[in-house]
Amino acid sequence: MRELRGIGVSAGTVVGPVARFVRELVEPLAGPAPADPAAEVGRLAAALAETTAELEQRAAAVSGPAAEVLEATALMAADPGLADGAAAAVTDRALPAARAVWEAFAGYREALAGAGGYLAARVADLDDVRDRVVARLLGVPLPGVPDPGHPYVLIAADLAPADTATLRPDVVLAIVTEQGGPTSHTAILANALGIPAVVACPGALSTADGTTVAVDGGAGSVIVQPGQSTVDEYRRRTAARAAARGTVTGVGRTADGAEVALLANIGDAAGMAAAMAAGAGGVGLFRTEFLFLDRNIPPRLAEQVAAYRAVFEQAAGHRVVVRTLDAGADKPLPFLGLEPEPNPALGVRGLRTAVIRPEILAEQLDAIAEAAAGGAADVWVMAPMVSTPDEAAEFVGQAHAAGLRPAGIMVEVPAVALTATACLSEVDFASIGTNDLGQYALAADRQSAALATLTSPWQPGLLQLVALTARAGAELGRPVGVCGEAAGDPGLAVVLVGLGVTSLSMTPRSLAAVSAALASVDLAAARELAARVLAARSADDARELARAALPILADLA
Ligand code: PEP
Ligand code: MG
Repeated sequence: MRELRGIGVSAGTVVGPVARFVRELVEPLAGPAPADPAAEVGRLAAALAETTAELEQRAAAVSGPAAEVLEATALMAADPGLADGAAAAVTDRALPAARAVWEAFAGYREALAGAGGYLAARVADLDDVRDRVVARLLGVPLPGVPDPGHPYVLIAADLAPADTATLRPDVVLAIVTEQGGPTSHTAILANALGIPAVVACPGALSTADGTTVAVDGGAGSVIVQPGQSTVDEYRRRTAARAAARGTVTGVGRTADGAEVALLANIGDAAGMAAAMAAGAGGVGLFRTEFLFLDRNIPPRLAEQVAAYRAVFEQAAGHRVVVRTLDAGADKPLPFLGLEPEPNPALGVRGLRTAVIRPEILAEQLDAIAEAAAGGAADVWVMAPMVSTPDEAAEFVGQAHAAGLRPAGIMVEVPAVALTATACLSEVDFASIGTNDLGQYALAADRQSAALATLTSPWQPGLLQLVALTARAGAELGRPVGVCGEAAGDPGLAVVLVGLGVTSLSMTPRSLAAVSAALASVDLAAARELAARVLAARSADDARELARAALPILADLA
């Protein structure tokens, strides 16, 4: 039993076997020469035979065209010419088996590619067979999303959005990455899917495939080869967590009845359906970027109207806060024509892109207004990355002119929190984006694993800015919500309500745990906890204060 430590970013406990994810196989080297060439030829033959058997087994488990493709790949692995060629490279040229296989396949590869047409299209299948044999010989995982044929704990260096698109949430029990921080793509995805996750966990990738691990996505620990008592304890906690989460009604209530809207973060119509199914009271953050990504020209007005309407139609009687395009920095869009910048996170991003391409914002506001017209959804609109009262006033004026009301801003830049009274005077509402606000307040890249302690949403410095904003909102009578990852952490949710936040918007899967945590505490106790957390010296101390004050967290995390 060995314990690895990382940062817990998606709560839940799980015990299961590891399968590792690597993006590509590194080409094997031509040396050193094998000490015992005959044994090396034996290893080679065994790897080819095992790969053939594995592919035949997979073919037998499916039917139709998929089975035919797998049978054909099994035949490639069993090809005697290939086996002989590779064996000759070991005995005659003293190559290690992995390199010999690589080179033997290269000849076939060239012939297939040269043949063109149907045969050329088989090159990818041939590469897959080669990679399987080579990975076996080197004892490394196969490239691509693992498919061991049973549920597994996924371990990776990090996951890019493209990798996660093909993940099957029904078989991924937990995600552990060596890199990434609390607001990285992996964290957001895991939360959205309700999969326990630990990031910034050094050494995780050295855990061999098939090893049993116990993952605690709340505490950020990974126990390798846990003993039976640990396994039993984890199972008990999984059951307790399920029991502690009640049903969600769209409104969170403290034990003494103080209300806070519980909303969802979504990106499209499917997300809206998930939000409603989870009991969200509406949407606190509709990220509209998905419509604009991977495009050389912006989507036309009619396409935007249809996409927004598909969301609004599902939200009759509910609030939907639409965020205008948040491009730039980590989300560059080719059609914006932005110059490369030395510091993209501090560059032309969010609302700032509207200075360069004002017509894109104008058209988006028109599309939102058109989609909302005549419908029953309560449509609000807000801009990302606002920095000054003048920017806030300019955006709100433009949104009102387009017929959109209420119009507000995200609070993601520390200066806005520090001048909250001036900024909030210009808007109908504000929503605090703790992911970016934390990044800028602590001067720490939200994607950086090395800086994960600084980007923790428990940082008292970040929470001070939340407090300033909530206080200004209360004085001016403007709703102030939180829509960053912080809102979905049950302990922090209590603290945020204690600081005066009026709505919490999160991934739908977090709603039940947040609702349960709020119901366990009086408003006065939440306020008292919030005051103590603000005075904490570190993020860890702040989290500890909440753990001590809220016993229910032990069953929710
Ligand atoms: C945030 O910054 O907290 C936020 C909600 O926006 P995003 O994560 O999309 O940058
Ligand atoms: Mg943001």
